Amino acid sequence: MWTRDKPATPGFAEQCRQLTEERAAFDWLRAGSQTVQQQALRDFNQAVKNFHAGTHRRPTWRKARLHEGFRIVGAQASRIVKLNRKWAAINVPKVGWVRVRLSRAAPDAKSYRITADRTGRWHLAFAVIPPSIPAPGAGEVVGVDRGVTVSAALSTGELLSCPGLSERAKVRLKHLQRRLARCHRGSNRRRRVKEAIAKLNARAGDRRKDWVEKVSTDLARRFDVIRVEDLRIAQMTRRPRPKPHPARPGVYRSNRRRAKAGLNRGILANGWGLLVQRLEDKARGRVERIKPAYTSQTCSVCGHCAPESRESQAVFRCVACGHQAHADLNAAVNIAAGRAVSARRETPVQVSLKREPQLATST
Ligand SMILES: [Zn+2]
Repeated sequence: MWTRDKPATPGFAEQCRQLTEERAAFDWLRAGSQTVQQQALRDFNQAVKNFHAGTHRRPTWRKARLHEGFRIVGAQASRIVKLNRKWAAINVPKVGWVRVRLSRAAPDAKSYRITADRTGRWHLAFAVIPPSIPAPGAGEVVGVDRGVTVSAALSTGELLSCPGLSERAKVRLKHLQRRLARCHRGSNRRRRVKEAIAKLNARAGDRRKDWVEKVSTDLARRFDVIRVEDLRIAQMTRRPRPKPHPARPGVYRSNRRRAKAGLNRGILANGWGLLVQRLEDKARGRVERIKPAYTSQTCSVCGHCAPESRESQAVFRCVACGHQAHADLNAAVNIAAGRAVSARRETPVQVSLKREPQLATST
């Protein structure tokens, strides 16, 4: 809300002072927990700092049923009492004892966050940074090529695909989305349909996250160095620019926006960003980002780079040496080699070396 003619916006300390004043004046504000309110201010302060540092987007208003949650700080407050193997209880300020279903051993943490997602599931998450997974030490390098039809291709020859919704659930989702479009705004039916859609989307998200966690742990345990393409997913999944008609102002030509939206959905549904993020968390300092240019057009055997080599979406056949492979696996081998392929004009180094892998050749 700040503009040039206004004085500096109040910082965290000033906001806390204001909070104390307002709490004295209003009963409804006093009824809430002071720690929770202060933590909200602290989180906002951090969000503004991140925005000014250029690493995050500008903080926006929180939305009901979308950003539901609060943070509680204090070693005493975050002490969890185990009831049995599956259940535990925690004393939430102003709420009382709350039973929680343990999904893992409760860690020793100073703060935790309670959140509710769009399907109305409540979660309790402790703020702890787990230790990273140690390298196996065998000197093995793996390249991971991320794609839409195959979520992740490894240079070892494995093709991994991220699970999503079942075909039946996809049909149901489409049906529900059509029904939502016909519902009256603000009606109870619309709310119910929205909840059903949120439930299906949450199921897909859960499966994706589960897959990412399993794959990233597996890779971090098996390989010393993990090479991935340095993809800029936010830029890649942008919607295409409108294409104005050159002769007729106000008229636009097709920019294939729906097609791009479908591809974007495919990219985002495969959890690319999350996979690399979790890999970097788990295999700290062992993830290398490779320039993604031409990894899919370069032969992993002779190094010849030509767009004609990519025969189809799935098949790669080198026009120089005849090497044939799954297109994603070929790219994964290139990524594993760390080939920073930067030019199309690259010619085969030695065409006579037909089947011998020359991974070290670089431009
Ligand atoms: Zn070749």
